[in-house]
Amino acid sequence: MGRDRGPDCRLCRREGEKLFLKGARCFTHKCAIERREYAPGQHGAKRAKLSNFGLQMREKQKVKRIYGIFERQFRNYFYRAARAKGVTGSTLLQFLERRLDNVIFQTGFATSRSEARQIVSHGFVHVNGKSVNVPSFLVKKDDEVTLIFKKDKGLKNVKENIESSAQRKMPTWLNVDKDQYKTKVIRLPQREDIEYPVNEQLIVELYSR
Ligand code: SF4
Repeated sequence: MGRDRGPDCRLCRREGEKLFLKGARCFTHKCAIERREYAPGQHGAKRAKLSNFGLQMREKQKVKRIYGIFERQFRNYFYRAARAKGVTGSTLLQFLERRLDNVIFQTGFATSRSEARQIVSHGFVHVNGKSVNVPSFLVKKDDEVTLIFKKDKGLKNVKENIESSAQRKMPTWLNVDKDQYKTKVIRLPQREDIEYPVNEQLIVELYSR
């Protein structure tokens, strides 16, 4: 299973909740989940009762879709988390939060993680003074993430994003300087920093089968 390439709103409707995949639109009345809160497809309105396996699968798909990553990548994060010290489910979420594209999204420089991924892969991001164009790069404590613009390319969009995300709550593990387009990682994200509803234990159970 690769990354989902279909319409983003269908993914939210499939999961039955907002995954915030389309930036500003997700906060307006145009959000598909506000208008059609049932799964897509001919029989979408009739939600079948899910088995245990179904629940585990849906939870994994939801988290994978939120971060926009491939199945294999997701599985690798899980195995890495399982080998690391600590609670596997929390460590898995911590890895996902530490991704560079997620950091750019969380700071409000991008309105969605897919836009953040583009900003990174187009070479606008430096970490500790060095260009990093890999969205899956994992930040660590004390890293400094800066947006660098050649001429005005990309700057206008980022300025608009900062404006539109002005009301968004900034994560406390990041220190964001919006004027300088800079973010410092003051500590690693913890489980309580992840605010969307997720039962990571279901994902652990799925991969432990
Ligand atoms: Fe999901 Fe955003 Fe589409 Fe709403 S607008 S259904 S939150 S992607």
